[in-house]
Amino acid sequence: MTTNDAAVQVRDLRKTYGQKNAVDGVSFDIRPGETFALLGPNGAGKSTTIEILEGYRSRTGGEVSVLGTDPAKGGLDWKARLGIVLQSTGETGLVTVAEQLRHFAGFYQNPRDVDEVIAAVGLEPQAKTRIAKLSGGQQRRVDVALGIIGRPELLFLDEPTTGFDPEARRQFWQVIRGLKAEGTTILLTTHYLDEAAQLADRAGVIAGGRLVDIGGIDEIGGADARVPLVRWRDRDGVLREERTDEPGRVVASVVASLGSEPADLEVIRPSLEDIYLQLVRSVDAAAQPEEVLA
Ligand code: ADP
Repeated sequence: MTTNDAAVQVRDLRKTYGQKNAVDGVSFDIRPGETFALLGPNGAGKSTTIEILEGYRSRTGGEVSVLGTDPAKGGLDWKARLGIVLQSTGETGLVTVAEQLRHFAGFYQNPRDVDEVIAAVGLEPQAKTRIAKLSGGQQRRVDVALGIIGRPELLFLDEPTTGFDPEARRQFWQVIRGLKAEGTTILLTTHYLDEAAQLADRAGVIAGGRLVDIGGIDEIGGADARVPLVRWRDRDGVLREERTDEPGRVVASVVASLGSEPADLEVIRPSLEDIYLQLVRSVDAAAQPEEVLA
């Protein structure tokens, strides 16, 4: 693929607020149709990066192309190709869900069908309910519905499922998978690492304004970080553990040496969350040695 085919291209992006380097030389691409998760702790620079891509914030340096356009120069035609679900829009209108969606659909040339969108986000029973009367999770679904009504080519999802119960999150993931199957490119930020693992093809981890890792969702952190851990209790009641690429072999040798089933036997495969925390902590430790020692 040539670089011009990227849906999003970011090169050496910088943003300073006074003395503060909020984004400090970040580069990444998002391919068309890909779901890319931007992960990182609070204050890492995610919102700043995303708002620059959306055209809401100016940048201090670097090059950015979103759907072939520099967001600093993007006009209404370009904006209409984006779907944006902000962290909290606080939709508390007196209009109903269907009325609000119909209203927004009118802004686009080729909007999705309002009833289909309502069904896709699971709000059919609430279609005629005033938005102000919905629960927080239901209002969040209205945000998502508004983000996709214009049939965006690129969808920004900022913490989309905060406040959802587990069932609602799973339903929401289905909605996103459906959009993905239609070819929508998605940039997702989330604090739920299992959500990123479920939805994203690739992820970038940002900390202290820098990209500390980028890669396939199954590759982030490198192979070493993914080595399973075998844990068991030995005859004296001491908890033992061994990191190994061959957990079956280790379990077999423990069983052979104990002569019986070991107590509390576990084979633990690091989750994306474990790997992410390890990455972010190692950056923290390198950046602030004094604070870590204090
Ligand atoms: P994240 O979204 O990862 O939590 P942000 O992009 O919001 O991170 O913030 C990155 C850094 O920039 C933080 O240190 C934050 O305090 C700072 N920052 C963000 N917006 C502003 C602003 N408008 N003025 C000054 N500093 C800001």
